[in-house]
Amino acid sequence: MNFTTFAIVEEKLKQILENSKANEKENAAFIKRLKKQSKRDIDQSFHKEHDAIFQKIDCLDCGNCCSTTSPIFTQQDIKRLSKLFKMKPAQFIAEYLRVDLDDDYVLKSTPCPFLLEDNKCFVYDVRPQACSEYPHTNRKNMYQILDLTQKNTLVCPAVGHIVEHLRNIAPKKKYP
Ligand code: SF4
Ligand code: SF4
Repeated sequence: MNFTTFAIVEEKLKQILENSKANEKENAAFIKRLKKQSKRDIDQSFHKEHDAIFQKIDCLDCGNCCSTTSPIFTQQDIKRLSKLFKMKPAQFIAEYLRVDLDDDYVLKSTPCPFLLEDNKCFVYDVRPQACSEYPHTNRKNMYQILDLTQKNTLVCPAVGHIVEHLRNIAPKKKYP
């Protein structure tokens, strides 16, 4: 992708996030209504839109999740990563992590220190499980993470697009 095309795509992704911010209340109300739908319907709607949007969005044009938020690091993640850096897990924790209010290990600071300039991940093959599953819109039992998904509309343009699209088509479908 050349610089001009990249700039256009970047601007478009930024616009989706701005749109999510502007429609925060509407999206919250929609998510609340969505919770009344069957678990199966919720999964089907999200999975279909997830597949469609990730045909169009390339995460390497974005990198916003890695720039602005932190994944949770499980003990398994810490083990794999410290092995890569030939460190002891305790050293890795001291160097990169802190404990958050939920008692989970998260990055000390953002952007993630493993995010490269071209938005690639330096530790891609051993990245935390949370990174490989983000933004979680293709997982089973989406009903369990609808509040998180709503928050993610402000971080991830793909999630912003999915929720906006589902909200816009809702009257034509069976959402109340
Ligand atoms: S580990 Fe890699 S995928 Fe995860 S936040 Fe850091 S740069 Fe992004
Ligand atoms: S998962 Fe979302 S926020 Fe992260 S890089 Fe891809 S589109 Fe951007």
